[in-house]
Amino acid sequence: MNTTNLRDLYQQVILEHYKKPKHRGQTNPIDRYQKGHNPSCGDTIELTLQLDASGERVADIKFEGEGCAIAMASVDLMAGALVGKTIDEALGLVTVFQGMMKGETEFPTEHRKLNVMKGVAQFPVRIKCANLGWHTLKAALQMTGEAKLADFVSNENG
Ligand code: ZN
Repeated sequence: MNTTNLRDLYQQVILEHYKKPKHRGQTNPIDRYQKGHNPSCGDTIELTLQLDASGERVADIKFEGEGCAIAMASVDLMAGALVGKTIDEALGLVTVFQGMMKGETEFPTEHRKLNVMKGVAQFPVRIKCANLGWHTLKAALQMTGEAKLADFVSNENG
């Protein structure tokens, strides 16, 4: 497959997740809640997480919000990949994603679908859009205690 076809395929996958997200909504119950905002584009998401009974595994991830196709597709892909992972595994995948957007790493076969976002790394202004969901998830996972509905994370400096 040549580079042009590969880029078209990536765009199709991104548009598909943007138009028909599989993880829109709110988890029930909400064990973790985090808002994220990307001022450079105007993307805003509200991420909700349900943990399993042990509190150490992600049982469900859902999001609400408005933004560009890249931001919305990235968070939908992320939710699909991370449900069922332990918190440590999920944080590990956040690191892989952030590394990929810097051109340093790629996802292994198990998560190769996430490599579609790699195409975005060619466009520096859109990297923050792709990173928004992951950045917000990391904040949600690292939060301890009760979900606080007013909490808010910006990736202005991230
Ligand atoms: Zn955006």
